Amino acid sequence: MSKVYEIKLSYEELKEIDGKVSDVAQKVIDQFKKEYAYGFSLPIINEILRKSEENGRLTWRYKQIRSCDYCDKMHDYYRYPRSGRFHSKGDKNFNKPMYYSGIKFNEGFVTIEGLGDMCSECSEKYNVINQLIDYILDNDLRIEIQKNDYRDSKYLKDDIRICHSCDYEMTESEMGKESTMMGDGYYPSTCPKCEAKSSVFGRSHKTTNKFKHRLNPVFKEEVQKVKTLIKLHNKDKEKDLHISLSASKKNENIFYVREDRFNNGYRTVIKFDVEKKIYYVGHFWKEKCNQFIEALSKYTETDNEYFDF
Ligand SMILES: [Zn+2]
Ligand SMILES: [Zn+2]
Repeated sequence: MSKVYEIKLSYEELKEIDGKVSDVAQKVIDQFKKEYAYGFSLPIINEILRKSEENGRLTWRYKQIRSCDYCDKMHDYYRYPRSGRFHSKGDKNFNKPMYYSGIKFNEGFVTIEGLGDMCSECSEKYNVINQLIDYILDNDLRIEIQKNDYRDSKYLKDDIRICHSCDYEMTESEMGKESTMMGDGYYPSTCPKCEAKSSVFGRSHKTTNKFKHRLNPVFKEEVQKVKTLIKLHNKDKEKDLHISLSASKKNENIFYVREDRFNNGYRTVIKFDVEKKIYYVGHFWKEKCNQFIEALSKYTETDNEYFDF
């Protein structure tokens, strides 16, 4: 049987024993030093950042939790409202555990029911999500941030795969893409070096736990400007008249601004490619999208204005 020891040390004491302990203990010390360096007074935020740097990604999801370490929400059970044969009024009903709405950061494939990092109220109170996002972007950490309404991620995590045919190490973004069986998207399939494909039922390229990062096209200045214009456009308008931004599923450098309302299809306001630096104006919006043209023409090389449906 292995034993688990819990030792509590101050940061000063940790520095004392640094370099004089076993590899395992040294690893723990290094983790703490790294976390301490982020400088948040709430240790959980430092821990989340360290884990995000390790997995290259910051994610979170809301889930039901049993208790919160940061407030008085305790592991508890509902109580019987009236007496019965085997219990009295006010006794704990162990069949009815109390759940609170909570949040869990960087949850992997294994999820533990009822366990989270804190309750939603505390997460709001300490502004945890936005603080994490600001810290990552302001310090240019190579971490992909989950999609959110506050700020877009600067980087996208790019997993590394090994070709089953030629052993070439490639990032998923350099691989050729193929349409999924459902036809609802694309998945990375083809080796850029030898063109071997992975197929759903056949051989697939080996996954690794290594990764790189690439720039997120959404983070580009022109896309951010277009997003601001969309917000301005939608402000004070009925939902029916809203427009929104979406990226092409096949090519992440191509963006569409489209009407939310279905009119024999979703009419395009403007379509633009941040890599090729061109844009196309939607037929129905020819006269109405000057602001978008003005914003985008600063980032395009030629005076190109194509008409499209
Ligand atoms: Zn709480
Ligand atoms: Zn290959």
